[in-house]
Amino acid sequence: MIPFLDLKKVNEPLIEEIGDAVRRVAVSGWYIMGKECASFEQEMAEDLSSGTDAGYVVGCNSGTDAIALALLAAGVNRGDEVITVSHTAIPTAAAIVSVGAVPVFVDIDPLTWVMDISKVRQALTPKTKAVVPVHLYGNMVDIYALRVLLQEVGRADVAIVEDCAQAQGSILNEKQAGTIGDFGAYSFYPSKNIGALGDGGAVFTCNKAAKEQLLMYRNYGQRDRYHALVSGGINSRLDEMQAAVLRVKLRHLHDWNAHKRVLMKKYREELRDLPLTFQMTTEGCKPGWHLCVAAFEKGVSQDEMQQTMREHGVETLIHYPLPVHMQEAFLDYSRKELPVTEDLAKRIVSLPFSYAMNEQNVHEICHCICSCFSNVRHQ
Ligand SMILES: *Cc1c(COP(=O)(O)O)cnc(C)c1O
Repeated sequence: MIPFLDLKKVNEPLIEEIGDAVRRVAVSGWYIMGKECASFEQEMAEDLSSGTDAGYVVGCNSGTDAIALALLAAGVNRGDEVITVSHTAIPTAAAIVSVGAVPVFVDIDPLTWVMDISKVRQALTPKTKAVVPVHLYGNMVDIYALRVLLQEVGRADVAIVEDCAQAQGSILNEKQAGTIGDFGAYSFYPSKNIGALGDGGAVFTCNKAAKEQLLMYRNYGQRDRYHALVSGGINSRLDEMQAAVLRVKLRHLHDWNAHKRVLMKKYREELRDLPLTFQMTTEGCKPGWHLCVAAFEKGVSQDEMQQTMREHGVETLIHYPLPVHMQEAFLDYSRKELPVTEDLAKRIVSLPFSYAMNEQNVHEICHCICSCFSNVRHQ
């Protein structure tokens, strides 16, 4: 069986360096908010900054917290509306709800599978405080176009918080995901483009005042030790051990992304004759792919497709089977129909995809997929 993702294999080549990093922290006697976190924040900020747009990175406990902290720093209050998509991981919406805000879901573009920016215009109300576009699977939302739209309708006050959990290292017209909007939120969940040995996250911003807010909100609302300035502060820090491990991995991010672009190209070439479509890349975007997702034609059963692939030795997942706005937890919020989202969720399948794979692996998987395709019945 070819596993969907083998994290052991991903980490193996770096295991000595990772071991050294963990040991360095273990013997240091300092485990929270020390040198490793500060160095990682500095190094990631350098990686993300371009030219004059020098920014700051604030580490935190998860990608979910990164979104929540960014919303707090953007001044989002209880009852404010935040526009996002439903075709995303649940944490995007959970983070919005966690700060007391109301998620307003808009549909995705049928070709790029990310936020349809034209839908944002209709979703804006006087209560809108932020938009959380999601760079899903590694493909980016055109944040420049979103910014222009907000300016055109006189809503430049609305903050843009890019959900980069699946797109660290993706580039749109020279700038990395997370550096075009007001905030970029990143996740270091073990399977993400750079994964920790546990949970971790970070926020990027170029705004110094916003950075100060982030520092307080992640640490009980304290500005200095034992002196709290903002209410609503949480405990969400990137611990020293995870930061030390991430420093090792950050150095490889762009090489890994480049390798995954090669694998993605191979998948698309080998499967081009099947009735499958792939996510179209947003114009000007060089994606740091997180997932390789294919959509089959209407009428093919998703369950049967997965089952057949399993029988042919290929493990797959669905990202995500039930759109967020249709989940019990979010039924209290806007229940508009989102036809593109609802249709796509029934037709997608995520194929094995990781830095640890090579082109030969992809070839073998594609061979399995081609042979199982002839066996799949239409509903
Ligand atoms: C993983 C993910 C998150 C949340 O990250 P955690 O670190 O698991 O909290 C948020 N948004 C998207 C799109 C994700 O894929």
